[in-house]
Formats: sequence, C-alpha cells, structure tokens
Amino acid sequence: MSKNIFEKIIAHEIAADIVFEDESVLAFRDINPKAPTHVLIVPKKSLARLSDATAGDEKLLGHLLLKAAEVARQMGLNQNGYRLVINNGRDAGESVPQLHCHILGGRGLAWPPG
Ligand code: AMP
Repeated sequence: MSKNIFEKIIAHEIAADIVFEDESVLAFRDINPKAPTHVLIVPKKSLARLSDATAGDEKLLGHLLLKAAEVARQMGLNQNGYRLVINNGRDAGESVPQLHCHILGGRGLAWPPG
C-alpha cells in the first residue's frame, strides 16, 4: 500500500521541519499552524488512529505522551501551558490516517473546541 504523507515524513522521503526524533517517535512543525507553536508528534509504527491501538501499544502511547511533554518544554511552552489534541475519525476532523498528537501553544486557546 502507498504511504500517506506522515509515513513519508517518518521515512524521511519528504521534508519536514523536524524538532525531535528518537527510535519510536518523530515530532515536526505543522505546515498550517493553528497557534504560534504547533507541532505534531507521531509514532513511527504504522497506526492509523488511537482507536486502532491495542494493549500492545501501551508502552508506545506512554512514550508518545512523555515525549510530547518534553517537546512542549523544549519549545518553551511550560510556563503558560499548552494543549495536546488527537483527532480520531471523521467527526473529529482527522485528515491523515497516521496517529498524530497536536501540540499547540503560544496563545490562549478557547474551550470548548469547535
Ligand atoms: P488532523 O486534522 O488532526 O488529521 O491533522 C493533520 C495536520 O497535519 C493538519 O494540521 C495539517 O496542517 C498537517 N499537515 C498536513 N500535511 C503536512 C505536512 N506535509 N507537514 C506538516 N504538517 C502537515
């Protein structure tokens, strides 16, 4: 099957503004930022969305969240705070079928989301 855009970024086949990478996750700036800081952090394992995760992904998902917090700290977002968002499926507006967590910060964020 052909790779989606995030799988191509993970494979370094197309360019992205990468801010963090280790053996199991990759973080890069969103191409269409919705906040002054908008980074996406993705597992390198092929996993379309959170609802497809299984018990075997427990360690990976924990790692993803801990690294999201580390990237947020690295981006200087700790003092004023930030939001993590995972859009799962059509109603949430998921547009790329590779699990990704948005890290948004640098301005006040309204609640509830639209
Ligand atoms: P979602 O709507 O939750 O699926 O989020 C997908 C996000 O990916 C959107 O915020 C897009 O702006 C972002 N995006 C799409 N293509 C790229 C790309 N090539 N590099 C960085 N971000 C991208």
